Amino acid sequence: MSAADEGPRGPVVIVGGGLAAATAAGTLREEGFAGPLVLLSAEQHLPYERPPLSKSYLAGDSAFEDAFVHPKEFYDSHDVTLRLGAPATGIDLDAHAVTVGDDRIGYARLLLATGSSARRLPLADDSGAGVAYLRTVEDSDRIKAALRPGRRVVILGGGWIGLEVAATARTAGCEVVVVEPLAQPLLRVLGPTLGGTFAALHRHHGVDVRTTTNVTAIERRPDDDAGTGAGPDHDTPAAVHLDDGTTLVADLLLVGIGASPNVELARNAGLTVEDGVLADARLRTSHPDVFVAGDLANALHPKLGRRLRVEHWDNAKGQGATAARNMLGHQEDYDRLPYFFTDQYDLGMEYVGHVGAGGYDELVVRGDPEEGVFTAFWVAGGRVLAAMHANDWDAADPIRAIVEAGASGQVDDGGVDLAALRDSRIPLDQLVT
Ligand SMILES: Cc1cc2nc3c(=O)[nH]c(=O)nc-3n(C[C@H](O)[C@H](O)[C@H](O)COP(=O)(O)OP(=O)(O)OC[C@H]3O[C@@H](n4cnc5c(N)ncnc54)[C@H](O)[C@@H]3O)c2cc1C
Repeated sequence: MSAADEGPRGPVVIVGGGLAAATAAGTLREEGFAGPLVLLSAEQHLPYERPPLSKSYLAGDSAFEDAFVHPKEFYDSHDVTLRLGAPATGIDLDAHAVTVGDDRIGYARLLLATGSSARRLPLADDSGAGVAYLRTVEDSDRIKAALRPGRRVVILGGGWIGLEVAATARTAGCEVVVVEPLAQPLLRVLGPTLGGTFAALHRHHGVDVRTTTNVTAIERRPDDDAGTGAGPDHDTPAAVHLDDGTTLVADLLLVGIGASPNVELARNAGLTVEDGVLADARLRTSHPDVFVAGDLANALHPKLGRRLRVEHWDNAKGQGATAARNMLGHQEDYDRLPYFFTDQYDLGMEYVGHVGAGGYDELVVRGDPEEGVFTAFWVAGGRVLAAMHANDWDAADPIRAIVEAGASGQVDDGGVDLAALRDSRIPLDQLVT
């Protein structure tokens, strides 16, 4: 339940130019906030969504404008002062002011939504070879320019971004190798069985997936750049030496080893930072007038009973909206379970829930992963912690309901009937009422 009890008596400033920030700006106006509203973004572009950068936009199948959170007219018509290419450089919590270059902008309430950045691999950065990371539209444009038939693409890291780029590059006709140190790609998120399903999917499409393999050295190959057609900073070929004794030559070397939250501004201001900016369930930080949303937020999740930082589209959108309402004085917990999606080749999947550090003791699979249409449920202590479907779109709502039941302790405090869950003949939508 939420109720507006006290709104800001002055400007609201939003720092960050992504989905969380732009969603918050929209929600503030929808909810009737009529005061000055400033959005500061380090990027030069209108706030945009990033999922297409590794999928349809990278493949050349969608336009950049399609990814805008709001069209340009929105900011004008809703009286949002949008300052692009204007990174906030400091926050004075006592004075309630944000510094941008030589300007100081006062606020009554502040939202931090500075997102995250691609984690760097010094071994690659220091090699002198061209190294690509993927976070921004500029990164995606540079990678896109390199994806031509026959080009050799080496991807370090079998996480979501690495695998999505592998699928797009392979579809574009590139020779693709994915190098993953663990026993399967996506091992930490999906576990060995379904990590293996994704490895098989990529191998089926001709990707060379090397698991349990580490990079030992990376060298620039200055004599091998004929025909790459792009600038030396990005497309200088690399020789990638692996601990299986082989060497891969890469026309494009992509590092996809995760992301780190952009916490510097918050930390320097004196906010409490610990793998992101710490917040309560209402997304309020250690300062009562400062809120946080999106990849940056490490917020208490009331249903899971612990803090969680989530790097997904749905979380950025949902937290942006909740933080905006709470800045207006509502008392709304952000309790939506984590959700994400991916598209690789002809496999579309959605995942809901969260498997914590304790892991799970049973994986229930319905359908046949080899056929590419299935659902899966991660169970611990008799509860369904998380679930996914692959190409089974009718299952999207039931799997969420099942995980919600597990999280809330519905049905005799244990979630769904596991015997029924294991019995594929019983439709999923009959498992929760
Ligand atoms: C290539 C790619 C593909 C993805 N695909 C999926 C997917 O399929 N499914 C899914 O669920 N999620 C996906 N994600 C994750 C999802 O995009 C992120 O969770 C989401 O972008 C987080 O939004 P955000 O607004 O919190 O942060 P961000 O999108 O990181 O935006 C933060 C913004 O703040 C700006 N900023 C940083 N510091 C400052 C400062 N000091 N002052 C002003 N501005 C600042 C940054 O420049 C940036 O514009 C993908 C991410 C990437 C990179």
